[in-house]
Amino acid sequence: MALRIRTFGDPVLKEESRELETIDAEVRALVKDMSGTLSESTGRVGLAAPQVGVLKRLFVYDLGHGPRCLINPVILEGEGEDTCEEGCLSFPGIYVTIPRYRKVRTSCLTPSGHRVLIEADGFPARVFQHECDHLDGVLIIDRCDIEERKRALDEYRDIELRKTVPDA
Ligand code: ZN
Repeated sequence: MALRIRTFGDPVLKEESRELETIDAEVRALVKDMSGTLSESTGRVGLAAPQVGVLKRLFVYDLGHGPRCLINPVILEGEGEDTCEEGCLSFPGIYVTIPRYRKVRTSCLTPSGHRVLIEADGFPARVFQHECDHLDGVLIIDRCDIEERKRALDEYRDIELRKTVPDA
C-alpha cells in the first residue's frame, strides 16, 4: 500500500519520534509499505517514518540494491566534512546545500531484530544523516545557512502556488 508522504507545513515533520520497543507485525507491515512508497518515488533514496505520519524511529533507504531498513538508528560518530546539494521527499522540487559528516558510524536494529553497526562513507553517510534528522524533527532547511533557507522557502511557496492556481 502506497503511503501519503507528508510535505513541509505538516506539523508531524517537526516532531521527535519515539524509539521502537518491539518489532512486531505492525512494524514489519509499515516497513513494507514505506519501502513500496519509496520505490514509487523516482530518484529518491530515503524515507523516514515521520514523513508518512508515524512518529517511530525508523527509516528505509535504497542505494540501488533494494530497500533496507534501519530501526532505532543512532549515529555514534562522524568524521570529515562534505558539502553537497540535498533534496527531500517532503520538499518536492527544492534543493539546498548542506554540510554533513563525510563518514558516519551508525548503530541500529535490522527488521529481524539484530543489532548491527554500519560504517557509511560519502553518499550513504549523507542519506543516514538526513534520515536520522527526520527522526528528531530536523529538516533540510534547518541545516543550511539563513540565505539558502530563505531562498528555499520562497521557491517552495512558488511551487505550491503554481499547484493551486490553474494555468490561464
Ligand atoms: Zn527528507
